[in-house]
Amino acid sequence: MKEKVLEIESLTKAFGEHVVLNGLDLSICKGEVVVIIGPSGCGKSTLLRCINGLEPINGGIIRLDGEVISNQKKNMHLVRQKIGMVFQSYDLFPNMTIIDNILLAPLKVQKREKKEALKEAEELLSRVGLSEKIKAYPRELSGGQKQRVAIVRALIMHPEIMLFDEVTAALDPQMVREVLNVILELARHGMTMAIVTHEMAFAKSVADRVIFLDEGKIKEENTPNEFFEHPKTKRAQEFLNTFSYEEVHKES
Ligand code: ADP
Ligand code: MG
Repeated sequence: MKEKVLEIESLTKAFGEHVVLNGLDLSICKGEVVVIIGPSGCGKSTLLRCINGLEPINGGIIRLDGEVISNQKKNMHLVRQKIGMVFQSYDLFPNMTIIDNILLAPLKVQKREKKEALKEAEELLSRVGLSEKIKAYPRELSGGQKQRVAIVRALIMHPEIMLFDEVTAALDPQMVREVLNVILELARHGMTMAIVTHEMAFAKSVADRVIFLDEGKIKEENTPNEFFEHPKTKRAQEFLNTFSYEEVHKES
């Protein structure tokens, strides 16, 4: 059996009285790409934030590489190094060059040797097509370029898993493609990933498994082909229908 990188059991998360995640179970194996979709407000971001320890959880347990990471205050800084997260907003430091943004955590947090970290940063920047931006400042980059830098900044920490939360939602269409291509490339190289996205064509091509989140639980879970061609639950059918309507609507 494949090694489990992430194991979530009976995860419950509430904000006050509002229960957002209600006994959610999810495991992700090494090298697996899981795409998480669901209606707005169903708890996709909350789920990723719980995994990353940005939100305390109310019940259940989360393990990374077999170690309990949920509600652990002490070692959370070590755990976070193993989890790469990229959000919709790239939050690069505006007063620092791209390379300094990328090297900050490897040098300051991981105490790595500058020469070695720099070499890896250069390789990663080249992989995402941004070698020439190494000394630029974030304001000199497009949204798509900044998002690719944010991905490099996460990758240089050598995470066990990468979490993506609607990373292309704020981008112009032509930039969406360049960012999604980087993620597809990571998938081909065997990176373990959990991806929240509204890009359905992308979801279909990148996912090993699609999970549909609704009412605090995983309502449906399947291979991308099965999920998109034959959604089983009514909620998933309705959700996918809204999508195709919006797509058609946009083009007309
Ligand atoms: P999604 O990412 O699927 O759109 P979210 O995880 O952002 O959904 O939010 C799930 C629900 O939790 C929403 O109803 C949202 O209003 C609520 N929520 C998220 N974060 C907070 C917070 N910090 N405080 C209170 N409610 C929150
Ligand atoms: Mg969200």
